Amino acid sequence: MPAGRYAPSPTGRLHVGNLRTGMLAWIAARASGRPFLLRVEDLDRVRSGAEEEQLAELAAVGITWDAEPVRQSERTALYADAVAALRARFGEDAVYECYCSRKDIAEASSAPNGPAGQHDDGPSSASPAPLRPPGFYPGTCRNLSAAERVRRRAERPAALRVDAARIEGLPSGQFPEASARDLLHGTVTGLVDDVVLRRNDGAYAYNLAVVVDDLEQGVDQVVRGDDLLDSAPRQRWLAEALCVARGDDCPDTEYLHVPLVVNAEGRRLAKRDGAVTLEDLAAVGAPANLSAVGERVRDVMLASVGLPAGPLEDAVAVFDPRALPRRAWVFDETAFTA
Ligand code: GLU
Repeated sequence: MPAGRYAPSPTGRLHVGNLRTGMLAWIAARASGRPFLLRVEDLDRVRSGAEEEQLAELAAVGITWDAEPVRQSERTALYADAVAALRARFGEDAVYECYCSRKDIAEASSAPNGPAGQHDDGPSSASPAPLRPPGFYPGTCRNLSAAERVRRRAERPAALRVDAARIEGLPSGQFPEASARDLLHGTVTGLVDDVVLRRNDGAYAYNLAVVVDDLEQGVDQVVRGDDLLDSAPRQRWLAEALCVARGDDCPDTEYLHVPLVVNAEGRRLAKRDGAVTLEDLAAVGAPANLSAVGERVRDVMLASVGLPAGPLEDAVAVFDPRALPRRAWVFDETAFTA
């Protein structure tokens, strides 16, 4: 069944920015008649106990979910299957070893390579230039000889990358273009580089896991922070490649990349920005117990996107994703404590 989802990383407590995105994901799913799923993205940087805290925090602002949350750490067989499916359909070399460090890639991708690209301003804008995300991988390790691979492997453990041009049947060195449909930002088009499928520490990479899980869970509505807008085209492309590899129909996923919450300097909200979690806000008396603070925070978050205060169900009826603000919301602790 088509579904919406929220996919927090259990690195610590959720702050107001995370809660606001989770709340919008819940409202968007409900407003479109989709069930709502939670996925714990715990492939790395996990803090013990954070998952339980985050589920309690989501519940405190009124978010409910329609199935047991899944954990990425328990799904590595699915990611391995996806890599195998790409190789089985497009050839062994459709996935190749890469020995580059971050520094190698930063140096290679800062070489002159044309405009960085942009996305359009809304559903009605025409022909956006392709977007080249930061850290775009130019293909350094794509065509190494067998002897060179043996030498490089001894120096540094290999990551695995997908050969996007090979899968698309393009000449090596060209990059396919892909588009994602976003309810707020319109069609977002980007060039697709050879994304990492498995990192060089052996962990499956975020871009693969998110695509495999969304397909496997039937997710066709992705609501998340707009810091991930640039990743949407390549994730769409990878999803479609996997669907082709498996002979499956690919869902026409709708995205909604929502503005982040930022501090007074305009930087993405972080723990050091004062009372930013429910626990912090309860400690500064806004109000003092977790479920009451959850309601207070919910109401302030609803107001920040022009929705009525009160139970989330009441916001569902009047929710219009295209009416959401596009600008980041500046966090002001006093809005919660007043
Ligand atoms: N786990 C990611 C985060 O917490 C979200 C990934 C996604 O929604 O695709 O930022």
